[in-house]
Amino acid sequence: MARIGFVGLGNMGLPMAQNLLKAGHQVEGVDVNAAAVAKLVAAGGAGVETAKTAAARADVVITMLPSGKEVREVYLGSSGIIENANAGTLLIDCSTIDVETARAVAGAAEQKGLLMLDAPVSGGVGGASAATLTFMVGGSAQAFTRAESILQKMGKTIVHAGGAGNGQAAKICNNMILGVSMIAVSEAFVLAEKLGLDHQKLFDISSKSSGQCWSMTTYCPVPGPVPTSPANHDYQAGFTAAMMLKDLKLSQEAAKAAGAKTQLGADAARIYSAYVESGEAGRDFSGIIRFVRG
Ligand code: NAD
Repeated sequence: MARIGFVGLGNMGLPMAQNLLKAGHQVEGVDVNAAAVAKLVAAGGAGVETAKTAAARADVVITMLPSGKEVREVYLGSSGIIENANAGTLLIDCSTIDVETARAVAGAAEQKGLLMLDAPVSGGVGGASAATLTFMVGGSAQAFTRAESILQKMGKTIVHAGGAGNGQAAKICNNMILGVSMIAVSEAFVLAEKLGLDHQKLFDISSKSSGQCWSMTTYCPVPGPVPTSPANHDYQAGFTAAMMLKDLKLSQEAAKAAGAKTQLGADAARIYSAYVESGEAGRDFSGIIRFVRG
């Protein structure tokens, strides 16, 4: 069993770390929020003061942080993970961040002779708790092979997407599809309302026709057709509009840097930005249908 340093014990990180404990690993947690560390300790883990200390003691370091800024902070510099990890330590960043930062940090790790993966997830807090996350992994085949058995304790689907940064690339491409498709499905329901077509009738037809997609059949933005979707609970998040906006912005930064035309992705980013600014940052992203309705 490995000794794992886990940095970032928030909504996602804490249940992921708890699943590693359940699997028999030793987990030493770090978070700027002492209450988060206390929850890990209550679950049988240990608390460590800094990422530097955790890195110096661990076989594997996992990070689950809000954005690229925090990832640079904890990995780089003299008190960072890379400078203080022992040779042979495996580094896995599960945060959703920009491709550029992921590649820069992986490059710094490589220069120190450390194996590093970017491994963002989809599946949300529910998936983190149930250990059913999907991991999209970028990095060397050697690092991936070493990480697989650990990632399997936190997720169900583990895909090696290619070299450093490709996990993040997969994540933002997928979430750009999701943002665009949720708006498209919402617009279709709003148009149906105006045309006198029942929500359930549109669902029965579209869920079996060419309009079928995850935003329709799993996360339907109107109450009724899919009883488990947030629409049935006043759009309580799930996956917040603020997080969707974060991922859409990442996709637009990446598109600009790579010279890719992503017109609908840009429109989706603008629409979610206006939705968030209307005071709905913490609402589930499928609540966008209310905004579309006007
Ligand atoms: P969160 O804000 O709940 O957790 C982040 C944690 O990191 C917090 O506990 C915070 O105190 C800690 N932290 C911040 N800076 C730190 C530092 N310098 N050192 C140590 N700890 C630090 O966020 P979350 O919902 O757990 O999301 C984490 C990542 O996962 C994000 O990149 C997010 O985009 C991604 N993600 C989230 C979801 C979701 O549904 N919540 C789904 C998929 C991916």
